[in-house]
Amino acid sequence: MIKLDKVSKWYGEFKVLNGCSTSVAKGEVVVVCGPSGSGKSTLIKTINALEPHQEGEIYVDDVAVHDKTTNLPALRARVGMVFQHFELFPHLTVMENLTLTQVKVLGRTKDDAAARGVTLLDRVGLRLHADKHPGQLSGGQQQRVAIARALAMDPIVMLFDEPTSALDPEMVGEVLDVMRGLAQDGMTMVCVSHEMGFAREVSDRVIFMDGGRIIEDCTTEHFFGHTHTLSPRAQDFLSKIL
Ligand code: ATP
Ligand code: MG
Repeated sequence: MIKLDKVSKWYGEFKVLNGCSTSVAKGEVVVVCGPSGSGKSTLIKTINALEPHQEGEIYVDDVAVHDKTTNLPALRARVGMVFQHFELFPHLTVMENLTLTQVKVLGRTKDDAAARGVTLLDRVGLRLHADKHPGQLSGGQQQRVAIARALAMDPIVMLFDEPTSALDPEMVGEVLDVMRGLAQDGMTMVCVSHEMGFAREVSDRVIFMDGGRIIEDCTTEHFFGHTHTLSPRAQDFLSKIL
């Protein structure tokens, strides 16, 4: 589904990604963790070319992201992305947030888009909030709308960048519950997250990054069950957050 082959990226002189290779199979859930500044956000943003990379190859569903002739807007329409900050349109209602891109990008009718919107609001437990504006919702509710909005595009993969780290603690669970449900339904997911309980319970694989490199890329069972075999940097990281 996703393949990265020796991906490197520079910001000016600074090498932010250094030869990153990995792949994600259909239906797989991969959690990316690592210290601040290690390149996690940059890595997942290269997958849908929100950040360009300079070396190496990236494929999403056999589409070559690095190929200059690739239709990037078409690719991005199929890759759902949820960020730390919800980035909903504040002047639109929840339902309008859900339907806008379906109509504009996928060419759905307003009725079809609204029907899909209702289904997804149900799924994230917010059906009664369709006519509110984002500012009238809690952070956790807004993040669930953001997930529903991404799902409305029928993505082939969902990318999450610390979706719970800006939330008050009591709202983290409701967002993780939605993500857990997605994983159970077979969605392919790459999640930057420090929620190690979630990683342990829901993910199939864990990637640990440090200094722009993928240092560990192993099964979740191995990552948490055989900690002593991990690199010192990964052990150090785990000792601080577990
Ligand atoms: P965090 O856990 O804090 O979110 P991260 O692992 O997601 O960190 P990135 O945001 O990918 O890290 O950043 C990796 C490195 O690249 C950092 O050193 C950061 O300062 C640098 N960086 C990120 N964005 C830019 C940019 N637009 N221009 C220059 N440097 C950048
Ligand atoms: Mg980040």
